[in-house]
Amino acid sequence: MKSNTNLSFLHLLQLLFYIITIVSGFHLPCFHLPPSKATRRQTLPTCQTSLTSPIPRTTLASTELSTSEHILFDLPVSNNGARCRIILYKKGIRKDQVEILSPAEVGGLKSSDYLNLNPAGLMPSLTIQKADNPYGINAIAESDTIARYLISEYSDAPSFLPDHPKSNQIARWHDMYLTPIQGCLYKPSSRLPFGNYADRKSAIAAYRKNLEVIEGFVGDLTGLYLCGDDISLADATLFPSLVFATFMLPKFDHAQPALPLTLTQYYNNLMAKDEVFSKVHDEIMSVLVDSWDAKNRWDDIWLAGQRDTAPGTIFDKILSGEIPASVVKEDDHILAFKDINPMAPAHIVIIPKDRSGLTNLRKASAEHIDILGRLLVTAGEIAKDAELGFGDGARIVINDGNDGGQEVMHLHVHVLGGKKLDNKLG
Ligand code: 5GP
Repeated sequence: MKSNTNLSFLHLLQLLFYIITIVSGFHLPCFHLPPSKATRRQTLPTCQTSLTSPIPRTTLASTELSTSEHILFDLPVSNNGARCRIILYKKGIRKDQVEILSPAEVGGLKSSDYLNLNPAGLMPSLTIQKADNPYGINAIAESDTIARYLISEYSDAPSFLPDHPKSNQIARWHDMYLTPIQGCLYKPSSRLPFGNYADRKSAIAAYRKNLEVIEGFVGDLTGLYLCGDDISLADATLFPSLVFATFMLPKFDHAQPALPLTLTQYYNNLMAKDEVFSKVHDEIMSVLVDSWDAKNRWDDIWLAGQRDTAPGTIFDKILSGEIPASVVKEDDHILAFKDINPMAPAHIVIIPKDRSGLTNLRKASAEHIDILGRLLVTAGEIAKDAELGFGDGARIVINDGNDGGQEVMHLHVHVLGGKKLDNKLG
């Protein structure tokens, strides 16, 4: 009771203070209010996004295209679209429920109508145009979300086990780690990098590693499908990527099997015993073989910048230790050693450990941006190393081909210094 009275008294004092403050225009620092939301917003930097269109919304009069309850914008070759098609085919969802149309119907993936459906300009997208739509959205732009929507909307069997932890783990790993680097199997080299990987070779190695991880999650097969006898979302998610990997990985590397052991067994079983999966396989392959293969689409991609049939050089023997060298710097990617026949008081040669196509600089492609950068950064580090005999500057030289005076056909960077060099270049 007493404390209440005290509180009221304090409140009264506080009120009096406010009144004085307002009337006199007097402000104490501790009463300064933070800036209003509107003011604060102005001081925030503008949000940068890589998306082509920032606001997903449907302006499309999609009912003019189809009176179906939904339109799935998709093409047979789309892996993520195939995930949704497996659900449509398995559940027997009718055309008046979900009609599949090409994004070309709305002007293609980069058209403003399509970008309003799917700001990333990717397939698939689903429009919801049925009368009783309680969700507050009329388009879905992400394949796992579309797949889960279809599963819950059309609850006829099979259920696709949307809550199965094994299924979810495989599907989520696929989406988070495999899909982002899948571009290494089909994108031209000018569109580097692939996910977090600077070149195709390391992206393909990571792709294979993630297939191994998924193989581990699969464990022993106890039925036709990943979770036993019941088809799950993981089957719909993973299988289309396996079709693609089985077709593409051997183009890069004949020696290794495309898929790990259990995934190979799983893939072959599905192809032999499940009509929907072999149908989806044929849909994806029809485009890959009839169109992309026939038009030599892979020529710029298949081992792009990595083809290397030239004979080995003396530098391979230095790398293997067969011939000794005075090594001054080494990491996973480069080796730097003293030139056996120095042209200056300090003369270091830097080579990429993996030549992969780089017999000389004229063979370089975008695939080599990472290693070329490493060579130059190392050259700069060496050129300022007083212990190696360098003083105030150095000359960095790449002899390229016969006319350039190159003798060893394994790209290398010369770092010359230790005295003031003349300024003749030729
Ligand atoms: P290029 O003339 O091809 O630009 O340069 C090749 C360089 O490799 C030459 O400067 C040459 O002296 C050096 N070189 C060739 N063979 C060996 C070797 O066995 N050991 C070392 N340390 N350098 C070598």
